[in-house]
Amino acid sequence: MPDSGARLLLGGPIAEEIRTAVAESIVAYRKRTGRSPTLGIVIAGRDAPSMVYLQQILKSCDMVGIGRRAVELDGEVTEQAVRDAIGELNADPTVAGIIVQMPLPPTIRLRAIVEAIDPAKDIDGIHPLNAGLLRLGYDGFLPATPHAAVELLRRYGIAIDGRNAVVIGRSTVVGMPAAFLLVQEDATVTVCHSRTTDLASHVKAADIVVVAAGHPGLVTGDMLKRGAVVVDVGINVVDGKLVGDVDFESASRVASAITPVPGGVGPLTNAMLLSHLVRAAESQAQARAVPEPVTRGTA
Ligand code: NAP
Repeated sequence: MPDSGARLLLGGPIAEEIRTAVAESIVAYRKRTGRSPTLGIVIAGRDAPSMVYLQQILKSCDMVGIGRRAVELDGEVTEQAVRDAIGELNADPTVAGIIVQMPLPPTIRLRAIVEAIDPAKDIDGIHPLNAGLLRLGYDGFLPATPHAAVELLRRYGIAIDGRNAVVIGRSTVVGMPAAFLLVQEDATVTVCHSRTTDLASHVKAADIVVVAAGHPGLVTGDMLKRGAVVVDVGINVVDGKLVGDVDFESASRVASAITPVPGGVGPLTNAMLLSHLVRAAESQAQARAVPEPVTRGTA
């Protein structure tokens, strides 16, 4: 790491706290119900980076006592076969949460897949119902990555209320949900994307910059306001090394706080997903415990 004045916003220690709380909840859940909740995973094709991400999730499940049921399909699979695999996991009462590994093979429509997931098991917040709840500011499942990005700010005590935030990236899984979450935290938010003219002027005005573009070196120190807080969500491989979207060396000389890549948002994303799974398991157990309404006068 270069000699920087910026405070490092590390995801690892917060992820550890969340995993500890999750492990405790799982012990209590097992005592109450006699079984561990299970994460259902649908894998279609073997995209290398997403397999790495998957291995990390599986390892975390083992660490906290969450079971897993993976359905592996080959890259030539049909849309219907993926929907059927999701349907099986929807119907399995031991499966509390479902994730579908992205990216999907190009022949498969994302919309057809996200709509197949039971919203009550949609722990990565991709079903339109959960996306709509987020948009309306109601409780639903949040996409784990933007949730992690904003949670990192909260846990490090970074003020969001009243600050100018710029989110670079408008994807449905990262950029837009991050923007909605920051608005909910009372930031004034500008969303930038590939058609934004003069990205640098927007970034210069921001107290908080969340970068999720998938473009290494997109944000450099000279673009930042002195003292800005930088959350780098990007994950890119350059010359065999994992890097974010922000030029860490120059940015960390200007920012007051910055997430490293790796070690920032990534580890926390994974832990957020586990905490969403616990929440899903608890609410499904509660729903099962509600007695059937008594009906009178029926044959
Ligand atoms: P995505 O769907 O490809 O979206 C990228 C967004 O960035 C788009 O909105 C695009 O604009 C915008 N963009 C691209 N180049 C730009 C540029 N030069 N200037 C301004 N905006 C630009 O990607 P994603 O799924 O949101 O992921 C974004 C990044 O986060 C990727 O690096 C991904 O690997 C990483 N990621 C990290 C985690 C984690 O746990 N840390 C999890 C998921 C994803 P348009 O809409 O105009 O095309």
